[in-house]
Amino acid sequence: MKIGFIGLGNMGGPMAANLAKAGHDVTGFDMAKVTIEGVAMAASAVSAASSADVVITMLPNGKILRAVANDILAAMPKGATHIDCSTVDVDSARAVAEQAANSGLLAVDAPVSGGVGGAAGGTLTFMAGGSADAFATAAPLFDIMGQKAVHCGASGAGQAAKICNNMILGVTMVATCEAFALADKLGLDRQKMFDVVSTSSGYSWTMNAYCPAPGVGPQSPADNGYQPGFAAELMLKDLRLSQQAAESVDADTPMGELARALYAQFVENEDGAGMDFSAMLPRFEKRGRN
Ligand code: NAD
Repeated sequence: MKIGFIGLGNMGGPMAANLAKAGHDVTGFDMAKVTIEGVAMAASAVSAASSADVVITMLPNGKILRAVANDILAAMPKGATHIDCSTVDVDSARAVAEQAANSGLLAVDAPVSGGVGGAAGGTLTFMAGGSADAFATAAPLFDIMGQKAVHCGASGAGQAAKICNNMILGVTMVATCEAFALADKLGLDRQKMFDVVSTSSGYSWTMNAYCPAPGVGPQSPADNGYQPGFAAELMLKDLRLSQQAAESVDADTPMGELARALYAQFVENEDGAGMDFSAMLPRFEKRGRN
């Protein structure tokens, strides 16, 4: 396939490289000067998109996605497919899909989980929204870039699944970290805490697979000075998107809102910027009840 790839950052770069390695003809564009193995670089987003069968975007946020979509969708050949893999608000995902349909294109919103390691290793999970035809076109590319793709429903359903998942993740990480800090103060050994919780009803991905306590459980960013991993800023971004979505549909999400407020405090007023999102544990360690 002839693929245009716009947004070749930490995630998009390795995803585009994997498509090229699998034999696709990939032309990329990024605002920053980057070179990606196997990917021809275009001078603009429009020139990367104008003769492509599929254009993939992997951009920082919904505002940038809308601006790029405004430029490229009208330039893409009729019948081509736009796949947006960025994490953006549900409204932007739906607006861009509608604009694509008006230009005679197929569209899929397909945010990912799995992080930079998943992008490099081709083991991402894709959560996709769009028509069955659009998903069928995108599926072979998801197979190259990832290990699993779930067709979640109509346009916007991929973004909805992503922010609901990450709201659970943020809330669970906060709960796991505050429980470790309480256990410390109660004199409970961290390894014993892990041994019990990881095999009891308090278990979770944050405890069992990404334990925030250094030296306990499998290797995680906690064992590497809390270098990300999944940065606290990105968790804050996703929690904000979840609360924006909750407001737009009048959903009551008190735990998600509390997690958003805690990550905002951590990133903006404490030392959370640049740290992994599991660095909530040393934050709680230093605190008392007030
Ligand atoms: P990044 O900042 O490394 O990459 C974004 C790229 O987009 C940059 O290279 C930037 O130069 C480029 N860009 C910005 N505006 C542009 C424009 N108008 N035209 C062309 N290129 C433009 O970010 P990332 O970590 O690759 O994340 C990309 C998306 O994936 C985000 O929506 C993020 O929330 C999501 N995501 C990231 C992770 C992760 O662990 N990094 C995990 C899951 C999802």
